[in-house]
Amino acid sequence: MIAARSFSGKTVAVFGLARTGLASVRALKAGGAQVIAWDDNSAARDAGYEAGAEITPWREWAWEAISALILSPGVPLTHPRPHEAVLHAKSAGVAVIGDVELFAREIRPDAGRPGKAPVIAITGTNGKSTTTALLGHILASAGFDAQVGGNIGKAVLELAPPGPKTIYVLEMSSFQIDLAPGLHPDVALLSNLTPDHIDRHGSMENYAAIKERLLRQVPKDGQVIVGVDDAYGAAIFTALSSNGGAAATPVSVGKILGRGVFAVDGILYDAHGQRTAEVMAMEEAPRLPGAHNWQNIALAYAAARNFIKDSRAIVGAISSFPGLAHRMEEVGHIGRVRFINDSKATNADATARALACYPDIFWIAGGKPKEGGIAALSDYFPRIRKAYLIGEAAEAFAGTLEGRVVFSRSGTLDKAVEEAAADAARAAAPAPVVLLSPASASYDQFKDFEQRGDVFRALVARLPRDARQGQKVVS
Ligand code: ADP
Repeated sequence: MIAARSFSGKTVAVFGLARTGLASVRALKAGGAQVIAWDDNSAARDAGYEAGAEITPWREWAWEAISALILSPGVPLTHPRPHEAVLHAKSAGVAVIGDVELFAREIRPDAGRPGKAPVIAITGTNGKSTTTALLGHILASAGFDAQVGGNIGKAVLELAPPGPKTIYVLEMSSFQIDLAPGLHPDVALLSNLTPDHIDRHGSMENYAAIKERLLRQVPKDGQVIVGVDDAYGAAIFTALSSNGGAAATPVSVGKILGRGVFAVDGILYDAHGQRTAEVMAMEEAPRLPGAHNWQNIALAYAAARNFIKDSRAIVGAISSFPGLAHRMEEVGHIGRVRFINDSKATNADATARALACYPDIFWIAGGKPKEGGIAALSDYFPRIRKAYLIGEAAEAFAGTLEGRVVFSRSGTLDKAVEEAAADAARAAAPAPVVLLSPASASYDQFKDFEQRGDVFRALVARLPRDARQGQKVVS
């Protein structure tokens, strides 16, 4: 744990006692602050109490005695409207920050702090977790103490304090960026930008501006690495290349760049100085399938080469990356039929990447609907043999698919798996795939995308073995 000493001897309020809130309570207490806290959920309040906070309803807080409000990234800061506690804090002149800001204040190389370690921050609409985990794996393989956290895995304050070989690799959601104005990463990556979470950011422009802010917080001697394949990323790269700030490296999949890192026809290239070097063939990374993962590989490579000079060592680590659960994860097969768990695909753009990978798809989709639905996926409809619709989004999805793709209103995931497995087993296609890639959030029927993916995996494991198809293998 990293003790948060910046509020030593002061009182700090923590609103929201989930993963990051609890870590903040512990770190603040360890750093010598008084902590008062609240969460609307009573179990979370109990956990906060055990972590050392005084539990008081937020409406009873004496704002004049409070030095900062630590807000959970799940609580609205601005849209659809600020939470009332935020309004109270602001009118009392109390800073509203997040756990990442506490972390940032701690690792500044100011007097009395334990010291500095490089920080790599990764953001974007899709690919954040994959790129973060991959980069952590590459750095760890090269002997660094890669401390991976943030929006993935551990809360930043649960990471180890900086040591001589430490590099922090932090996945940052837009909500966390909004609450961390003092984070100045040495390297920041932006994977891509497509509409997501617009309800929480007001507009696409606002969402893009928050992501851009993280890149602008990189000091002059740092580096920003930007995916330039979408219009927002391209515009941000252009703006950052000419502002006299940190060096900007573009990354593309499909475009040959005069300078930067790019993947074309399954080969990764690194263009710097006068020469373009071939780095690797993407097929050397079997756990990172699909062109979207080429983007993640290119981003991680571009960041890693700041710390690892031998590009063969980077390639070796990319090849041995074990992959992440719930991201196009093969969870088993029955005969010719493969079952792919892409539960993490919570928006249409992420699902498009999965649909692009297979020719004969039995597609399980739906959940809590996101803005825009699945209209943007129509180019992939010819690959879908049948769709199995679940959750709240089922009717809206049915409306888009009507007359274009055969579908079933399966309703629940267990029914969908049963139907899709039976249809796929009967299909004439040589390599049918049952794909859970919901293009929706999970909260209508599941706790989170992880639980949705775990249930899918368990349902696949329980499917009856088809004697005609031979052995079932669950990996
Ligand atoms: P994030 O953490 O940003 O949500 P993940 O790495 O967890 O990203 O991937 C989420 C989903 O997005 C995956 O299911 C995958 O299908 C898709 N995806 C992954 N990388 C990319 C990318 N670079 N571009 C577009 N989609 C991607």
